[in-house]
Amino acid sequence: MTALSVPAFVHAEDDPIVRRIDQIQDLSDRNNEEGIRQLLELQKKMPADASVQARLDLVAVLSGLYFDAGRVKEGTALQDEFKRLSKELKDKDALLFLSIIEAFDVYEKSGYDAAYAYLDSLEPSIEKATPSLKFRYASIKSQFYSAQGKFQFALKQYIYMLDLIEKLPRRQLQARMITWERISSMYLGLKDPKKALEATTEALAVSSATAVPKAYVEILIVRGAALSQMKRNVEALKEYETALNIAKQEGLPFAQGAALFNLADQYLILKDYKRAEQCARESMAVYEKLDDKFNVIGAQVNLGLALGYQGKVKQGSDLVMESIEFFKKEKSNSALESINGELAAMYESAGMYKEALVLMREKQTLSEEVYQAEVAKETAKLRESFDTEKREKQIELLAKNNELKDADIRNHRLQQMVTLLASVVAVLAGCFIYMLYRRSKKLNLQLQEVNSQLEFHAVRDPLTGLHNRRSFIALMSTRVVRVEAERREGAYANPDCMILLDIDHFKNINDTWGHAVGDIVLKEVASRLRNVVRDEDMLMRWGGEEFLIFSPKSNPEQITSLVERVLRTIGEAPFMNGEQAITVTVTAGFISVPFSDVPEDVCDWERALQIADMALYLGKTHGRNRAYGLARLLVPHEDAIPTLTHDLAAAIKQNMVEVIEVLGPPQVAN
Ligand code: GH3
Ligand code: MG
Ligand code: MG
Repeated sequence: MTALSVPAFVHAEDDPIVRRIDQIQDLSDRNNEEGIRQLLELQKKMPADASVQARLDLVAVLSGLYFDAGRVKEGTALQDEFKRLSKELKDKDALLFLSIIEAFDVYEKSGYDAAYAYLDSLEPSIEKATPSLKFRYASIKSQFYSAQGKFQFALKQYIYMLDLIEKLPRRQLQARMITWERISSMYLGLKDPKKALEATTEALAVSSATAVPKAYVEILIVRGAALSQMKRNVEALKEYETALNIAKQEGLPFAQGAALFNLADQYLILKDYKRAEQCARESMAVYEKLDDKFNVIGAQVNLGLALGYQGKVKQGSDLVMESIEFFKKEKSNSALESINGELAAMYESAGMYKEALVLMREKQTLSEEVYQAEVAKETAKLRESFDTEKREKQIELLAKNNELKDADIRNHRLQQMVTLLASVVAVLAGCFIYMLYRRSKKLNLQLQEVNSQLEFHAVRDPLTGLHNRRSFIALMSTRVVRVEAERREGAYANPDCMILLDIDHFKNINDTWGHAVGDIVLKEVASRLRNVVRDEDMLMRWGGEEFLIFSPKSNPEQITSLVERVLRTIGEAPFMNGEQAITVTVTAGFISVPFSDVPEDVCDWERALQIADMALYLGKTHGRNRAYGLARLLVPHEDAIPTLTHDLAAAIKQNMVEVIEVLGPPQVAN
C-alpha cells in the first residue's frame, strides 16, 4: 500500500482546493507527517461549498498517507469514508474508481480468472474514462499478471502505463518512478536481475532521491534484491542500508520493515548471524506494530535461522517450525519449500543430519508438487487456448522440454536460455510470443528443479548416498562459532572425534571381480557402516574408497567401542556377490578435535585429520585390518605438534603421544 498514488480520479485542475491538496501531496513525498498535518488542517477549514472532487480527493489522499505512516486503522476508516461519500455524492469517476479496485475483492474471493473476467467487464466504461482512471485500471491488471507470473502480459500493461503518464494531469514523476519500479520487480520474478537493475536505473533517472524519497526507498530495495540475485552481496547490503535510513528518517514503517527483512536475509547469506538476528528482530517488531501477520511470520523465519546458526538450535528451529505450521495452514507451498530448504541447511550445519534429511525429503516432495501442479495447469490452459494444430505443436514443445529436463544440461546453459527467452519476450508481442513465454516459464521451473537437484547432489555422494567431502567442509566452516556458543552456554562436553577409514587392498577387489563389483562393495561398506554409527554421527564418503565418521561429543570409551564395531562389521562376515564370498577389511586412524586440549588455532580439524591419516597409514604398514588412535599428548603441544604433523612414527618413538591400537576380527589366511 502506497500513497505514491497518481490522482485516483480527480481531474479538476482549476479547483483551488484540489490544487492545494496537490501541493500537500507533493510535500508528503518528502515529509509524510507534515503532509498528514496539513491535510487535517485543510479538512478543518474546508468551506461548505467545496466541490465534490475536492472533498473526495482529500479523503483519498489522506487515507494513503495514513497507510504510509503505518496507521492502518485510520487509513482503512478513511477508505470506508471514501466509499460512503462517493455513493452519497454519486460521483461518476469516484464510483468507477471504486469498481476498479473492487477487482482485489473479486480476486480474494474467486481467484485470478474471476478477477480478469471482472476487469474485462469494466472495459467499455474504461474506454471513455479519464487518463488517470485508465492508468489505475492498467496498473491493477499489471499487478495481477505480475503476481501470477504472466510477465509478458504485465509488461504490455506497463508499456501502456508509460504512454499514459504523459496525459496525467499531475504527479507524472511519481507515476513514472513507480511504473519502472514495478517493471524492475517483474524482472526479479523472471530471475533476470540484470534487466531488473537496468529498470531501477531508469526509475532513478526520473528524479532525484531528495525529491521523492518514498519511491526512492522502494527502488533501493528492489535494487538490493537484484544485486543479491547477482551475488553482489556487499552492494546489496549497501542499498538495503540506505533504504533503511531513509525509511526511518521519513517515517515509512512498511519500507522500514521491508529493508530490515531484506537486511536480515542478506546477513544470513553473508554468515553474519549476529547482525542477521538483530535485523530479524527489528523487522519483526516493525511488522508486529503494523499488525502485518504474514510478514511477522516471514521475519520469524530469519530470526530462527540466525539463532540456529549461532548454536541456539532448539530455540531457532522452534521459531522456524512455528512459521512452517503457519504457511502450511496458508497452503503456501513455495514459501514452505524454501523455508524447509533453509532449515535443513541449518540443521546440517548444526550436525543434526537426521532432521536435515527429513526436511530435504519434504522439500523435494513439495517442489515436485509445485512443479506438477504448475505443469498440469499449463497443459490444461494450453488445451483451451489453442486450436488442434497449435496444440500439437505445444505438446511437442512440452515433450521437448521434458527431454531437456532428463538430459544432462549444464545449469548455466539453462540459465542462458532463460535469460535469452526472457529478453525476447520483452521485445516482441502476440500469440507467438505467448508460446515462447510458456516455454521460458517452464524452463524457469526446470531451472529451479535442476538447481535443487544440483544442491542435493552437491552434498551427497551419488554412489552410496552418504554425505560427501563438501558437506563436511561446509559443516566445519561454522565450527568455531558453534563451539564458542557451546562454551558460553556451558554446553561443551566431550570433544568431537574423526575416524578415517580406507578399504584394504581395494585394487585387488577391482582387479579380481571387476569395477562394478568394486562399486557394490563400496555400497555395502557404506550400508554396514551406517548400521553401526550413532544417529548423531555423520558418515561420509571421503574419497574413492575412503570413508570418514565424524562423531560429535564422544568420550574415549565410546570411540574405542565405535572403532571396534566398525572393524567388526566390515571384517567379520564376507561380502556376498551371488555365490561368491569376498573378504573385505578396513584400516582406520582416529583422533579427537580439539586434540588433547591443544587450542584449535594450533591444531584445527584439518591438521587433526592429517594426523589421523598418518595413523591410518601406520595401520596399513602394521598389517591392515586394524585402527590406530591418538589418545593424548605426553609433552607440551609446542614440542609435539611439529613432529606429530610430519612424522607420527618418530613422535611415538620419542614418547610424545599415547596411541591406542584396536584390532579387527581375525581373518582366515587366503
Ligand atoms: P591399501 O590397502 O593400501 O589401501 O590398498 P588399495 O588397493 O586399497 O590401495 P589404494 O587405496 O591406493 O587404492 C584405491 C583404489 O580404489 C584405486 C581405485 O581404482 C579404486 N577406486 C576408487 N574409487 C572407486 C570407485 O568409485 N569404484 C571402484 N570400483 N573403485 C574405485
Ligand atoms: Mg585409498
Ligand atoms: Mg585402500
